[in-house]
Amino acid sequence: MTDCFEKLLELLGGICDLRAAEALLDWDQQVCLPAAAAEGRARQLAAISGVIHERSTSAALGRLLDQLEASCFADDSFEAALVRRCRMNFEKSRRVPAKLVAATALTTGEAHGAWLKAREANDYAILAPHLAKIIELKREYAALFKVKHPYDALLDNYEPGMTTAELKRVFTPLCREQTKLIKAAALPAGEPEPDFMVADYSSSKQLRISEMVVRAMRYDFTRGRMDLTEHPFTTTLGPDDVRITTAVDRKLPVSCLLSTMHECGHALYEQGIDPICFHTPLADGASFGFHESQSRLWENQIGRSTAFWRWLYPYFKKAFPRQLSGVSQKRFLRTINSVRRTFVRTEADEATYNLHIMVRYELEVALFDGKIEAADLVTEWNRRMKKYLGIVPPDDRQGVLQDIHWPLGDFGYFPTYALGNLLAAQIFDAAKKAMPQLERSIARGEFAPLVDFLRENIHQYGARYTGTELLKHLTGSSRIDINPYLEYLRKNYLPNA
Ligand SMILES: [Zn+2]
Repeated sequence: MTDCFEKLLELLGGICDLRAAEALLDWDQQVCLPAAAAEGRARQLAAISGVIHERSTSAALGRLLDQLEASCFADDSFEAALVRRCRMNFEKSRRVPAKLVAATALTTGEAHGAWLKAREANDYAILAPHLAKIIELKREYAALFKVKHPYDALLDNYEPGMTTAELKRVFTPLCREQTKLIKAAALPAGEPEPDFMVADYSSSKQLRISEMVVRAMRYDFTRGRMDLTEHPFTTTLGPDDVRITTAVDRKLPVSCLLSTMHECGHALYEQGIDPICFHTPLADGASFGFHESQSRLWENQIGRSTAFWRWLYPYFKKAFPRQLSGVSQKRFLRTINSVRRTFVRTEADEATYNLHIMVRYELEVALFDGKIEAADLVTEWNRRMKKYLGIVPPDDRQGVLQDIHWPLGDFGYFPTYALGNLLAAQIFDAAKKAMPQLERSIARGEFAPLVDFLRENIHQYGARYTGTELLKHLTGSSRIDINPYLEYLRKNYLPNA
């Protein structure tokens, strides 16, 4: 049996190397690809994903899994977890014809170029036909699985086991409560930002501060790097190469910092995985929602907190003395935590953020219910923005064209952002319970206790346990609970309620 297991590791190692090469092509596409090279890159990505698919569905892998399942690994052993995960991936990939995989890779590669052009021209019509093709391919994909709702098949790729029905249970009351909350907490429309928030903040200084913070968060630069991109993301190109990217805007003093902390939260998860998982599919997060909980926790629970700014504000003020002259820490914090109804998800504050997700989640469900088509997205998008946030985007760039997910074919991904927010609140509550001194150490810029807690309870396991199992271990319940998050929001944004 050891022989069989060695063979499995060898096969999986090869697939992991191909995935790393695929991730590098994708990183390059998002960071530094010349505009004219988009078509060629789409072909290269399609070619490599074809080879990965072939290997991941090979008869040899199937035979190995059959043999290993018949052996008696202890249920909670590394070996058993690996075989379980492989079986899940294998069964899923095997159902999908190679032709569909290649067509999806090719179509999404071209759509990425079209998305950039559509944004430039501020015209959804340029993207719409590409999106229509992707939606068709994704409907075809969903039809391959026996699920209650076609959208379940897509959700499962990001949040294993998650269903449209369960999302409805969580999101319906969440949406109701958050809509109520922002009605009470949001600043009136048109309320101007204070002068210091629209001042000019040097890009290089913003980047230097962001780098100082991620170093304090114990991001390991010997096993990663940080680059600039338009749409920040984190990617893993192998066990010792976890890269973060960031964007900087001279007019937005904290957006670079918070977005870098967000990506660093993802990277800490990957860098904290036990090396036993390396070169296998277990070198991954438990789920996208869990991954997102790690980024949200740093971006929001830490990055917007009084304790954190008690430490960082003196540095920040020293870097921007002219812009922040006469601005107290309290006023600065109140301002960066004000609630505003805005058009762009990535710039939304945490009180309105989930409502941006509700817009996308409802549209995705409607697309896979067959109730709407790609051509309806602008109208349907704007209608929901009006309903939940009370505002309608003035153009496509600030509306339906803002996200890269749909052109990449990532339908089913958005809900994991909202789940991440909910999980982050549950996890941070557990961390505070375990470490009553936590806020004091954060106020000194000491993040080691929190990183160690996350590493011990979440990161090290990689994908050995499901999100549900990790949640149960941490909080005693395996159910996603909206209350810790709502309580956190009410405490921060409705202090007098
Ligand atoms: Zn994220």
